[in-house]
Amino acid sequence: MAVSRLIKENLERSSWIRRMFEEGLKLKKEFGADKVYDFSLGNPDVEPPAAFNEILARLAADTSRGTHGYMPNAGYPAVRAAVAGKASRDQGLAIPAENIVMTVGAAGGLNVLLRTILDPGDEVIVFRPYFAEYFFYVQNHGGRFVDVPTGSGFSPDPEALRAALSPRTACVIVNSPNNPTGRIYTRAELEAIGAVLEEHGRKTGRYPYLVADEPYREIVYGGAEVPSPMLAYRETIVATSWSKSLSLPGERVGYLAVSPKCEDAKGLVDGLAMCTRILGFVNAPALLQRAVAELLDERCDVASYERRGRLLAEGLRAAGYEFPEPAGAFYIFARVPELPGEALPGLDVAFVMHLKKYNLLAVPGVGFGCPGWFRLSYCVAEKTIRDAIPLFARAMEDWKAGR
Ligand code: PLP
Repeated sequence: MAVSRLIKENLERSSWIRRMFEEGLKLKKEFGADKVYDFSLGNPDVEPPAAFNEILARLAADTSRGTHGYMPNAGYPAVRAAVAGKASRDQGLAIPAENIVMTVGAAGGLNVLLRTILDPGDEVIVFRPYFAEYFFYVQNHGGRFVDVPTGSGFSPDPEALRAALSPRTACVIVNSPNNPTGRIYTRAELEAIGAVLEEHGRKTGRYPYLVADEPYREIVYGGAEVPSPMLAYRETIVATSWSKSLSLPGERVGYLAVSPKCEDAKGLVDGLAMCTRILGFVNAPALLQRAVAELLDERCDVASYERRGRLLAEGLRAAGYEFPEPAGAFYIFARVPELPGEALPGLDVAFVMHLKKYNLLAVPGVGFGCPGWFRLSYCVAEKTIRDAIPLFARAMEDWKAGR
């Protein structure tokens, strides 16, 4: 058997985004690319800042010896020092360079972190809806995935968290700004999570880590602030990347920052550096490390996401769709319109299939742990949004009329 049973099961589980991608290809062949409105993929579509290309060209021309060699697994010391400055400003406390580990994107960082902290059977708690890949990351490292419900407007529910904690809980992952809701966790929400974890630690002697997955920290609207998880709880680790902020998802560069307040920060960082090596990453890409260290104050055209998000939100709202207004990231997570007498939970797949009849591609909420909802990514041209809005309106009318 070429592929393990587990991976076969996982292919089945992760089939929604893949399936929509394949549906999109089929539709584009049949109707032409400009007649298909693909809101399924969260693939940043703005260009990196011009400074990125200039810096990359200069660095590529550097022929000094050792430029392409191995380095310490945690990254170049000078890059870690520069990144520590940025992480300290973001988090509102002084993070030393030794607490930074350069990673292969946020995804690589999360895998390195879970490999470092999980013993077999340890539990990882996430709030619904969640980034679908977390399930696989936890499974990669022998952990048990525990998802908990959120309250109204997807606010994290401290009581649900308290009920889910166990002596096997290794960490809780929060993601703000959130994929798929676009929600930013408030300071009070982070503090409430911190207080529950603190209380649990005092009772059991095991303080779970708070893992803050923050690749969308810079993609926020109207100057919104993203509160610091490190100020809310001492055992906190931030995972992030330049995939969204500099629009470099294919370049695979990010970092982990360990709070200086963590009890065993040094042991943890040693573990992270070792896992970067033994997972086969070895180190984050050399050229990209040097490039991002010079671009710490740059970001991509966030206003373009904001404009497109507002445009899509206005159109959808006028057509009768319900969803929380995204405060950041580039997704809208909308409720499947109610049908009298039908139970909502199973209907997200049916609704996404209904949208497909209008060449509108979306992802059902079930993949994010929230059946009854669907996700739209607005990494698409403004024209695509404008052309799609009347189709969303027609799809809503027809759905309600049972057509
Ligand atoms: N976490 C979340 C919530 C994401 O949406 C993504 C990518 O879409 C990632 C992590 C992974 O990002 P990266 O490209 O930095 O690995």
